[in-house]
Amino acid sequence: MVSQIKHFIDGKLVAGHDARTAPVFNPATGEQTGEVGLATAAEVSAAVEAARAAAESWSDTPSLRRARILNRFLRIVEDRIDELAAVITSEHGKTLSDARGEIQRGLEVVEFAVGAPQLLKGEVSENVGTRVDSYGVRQPLGVVVGITPFNFPVMVPMWMFPVALACGNTFVLKPSEQDPSASLLIAQWLAEAGLPAGVFNVVHGDKEAVDALLLHPDVEAVSFVGSTPIARYIYSTATSTGKRCQALGGAKNHMVVMPDADLDQAVDALMGAAYGSAGERCMAISVAVPIGEKTADALVSKLEPKIRALKVGSGFNVESEMGPLVTRQHLEKVRGYVDSGVEEGAKLVVDGRDFRSNEGGYFIGGSLFDHVTTGMKIYKEEIFGPVLAVVRAPDYAHAARMINDNEYGNGTAIFTQNGDVAREFAHRIRVGMVGINVPIPVPVAFHSFGGWKASLFGDHSMHGPEGIRFYTRLKTITSRWPTSIAQGPEFVMPTMK
Ligand code: NAD
Repeated sequence: MVSQIKHFIDGKLVAGHDARTAPVFNPATGEQTGEVGLATAAEVSAAVEAARAAAESWSDTPSLRRARILNRFLRIVEDRIDELAAVITSEHGKTLSDARGEIQRGLEVVEFAVGAPQLLKGEVSENVGTRVDSYGVRQPLGVVVGITPFNFPVMVPMWMFPVALACGNTFVLKPSEQDPSASLLIAQWLAEAGLPAGVFNVVHGDKEAVDALLLHPDVEAVSFVGSTPIARYIYSTATSTGKRCQALGGAKNHMVVMPDADLDQAVDALMGAAYGSAGERCMAISVAVPIGEKTADALVSKLEPKIRALKVGSGFNVESEMGPLVTRQHLEKVRGYVDSGVEEGAKLVVDGRDFRSNEGGYFIGGSLFDHVTTGMKIYKEEIFGPVLAVVRAPDYAHAARMINDNEYGNGTAIFTQNGDVAREFAHRIRVGMVGINVPIPVPVAFHSFGGWKASLFGDHSMHGPEGIRFYTRLKTITSRWPTSIAQGPEFVMPTMK
């Protein structure tokens, strides 16, 4: 049965106009399971209006009370984590255990946001002038928007809305139209936790809905996560209308394997980081850079049998290590990249295109390319699939230069037993998130997540202290009380006597 996926506006599920819809598929079977309405500008306006109407009273709600609602939401999600994970798996395809992991990482941001009353404490300077006090407070922006990608339908929205709501903003989420249903469970569970109507809204849609949000005069700020070309567009459009914007883009993450690294550890790390979630992670490692021919030969020969043994299947099968890709179009795109690597002369050690499944879904096996060069398309472009490229480097300096010259700067890792090399790497590498013997260095919620270069447009990373800064503006108040005012007016610039 094909379900009708609705918007969530002003505390209610609202059916979309029938004008334009998009199908939603179960990627493990290829069957259509849902149909999602693509919001018109009028539907977007209704969601923004609901958020605007709720903004004043929500921002005036004491921060402790806001935090208590988020705390109740946290417990609801913890109790129903399996239900939410099943919705992720049925529309995204990732394994259930991976879906639970994504929810867990998202909930850590809710836990962080529950502490917002402490984080929103301002600064006070007493007696900056005689009997004059100065204090700074952080106030909410108003209506803020989140536009999110398909690959983390719960975690990425949770990088945004818990912090935004805790700071006193109201929120409109535009999730990916490819796996939209998880956002509706979130909206309903927030309402159940006591969130007033209009504070959190969901509109589904594509470019038309996104443009309506970007141009809406009542939207104060836009958080975006997705591919780099769209991130560039979102950033330039949102800022051109005076909005605050953080737009996180794509990635090409390298893992350097030094000759002194524990190779078995590095191979296990690469298996999870390159093939987990079928490579559909912005922090996936897509390029391995072994240093020296001996390290490279050993690495490739240890990787090959493990990749051939990967258990690919439905995310609902507990045996599966890797599920299908999200859509047929994405499967074709990833296959096309494997074709192009072969045409450009890279050595295809394991060919994921050979994988056959009886399940009818968008499956592909893991692929491994050796002898990839930095001029090849499979090196330069983000594939976002289970394809690992090995680029051999003669020494550390070559590897570091390659990473620094790369267009993207999301994540990177080095595997080594040498603290001096690791420290040099962490200090000099031009990438936002660095792992030392940690392949996927996603920062915990009380630190902030964000890349450099074409992986982030804007001044602020997400969640942690940066999230609090993004979702608030600073007001500084200088106050003097009547005893000094009674001394009569002054006509020169105040100098804090
Ligand atoms: P995408 O850019 O296609 O879509 C992201 C969002 O933008 C969706 O909500 C989509 O509806 C909307 N959108 C798509 N086309 C648009 C257009 N022309 N105009 C306006 N809006 C548009 O990304 P995706 O395929 O859903 O997600 C995968 C991408 O996201 C990868 O590039 C991945 O690296 C990136 N990503 C980055 C991070 C990060 O933290 N940097 C995290 C997760 C995913």
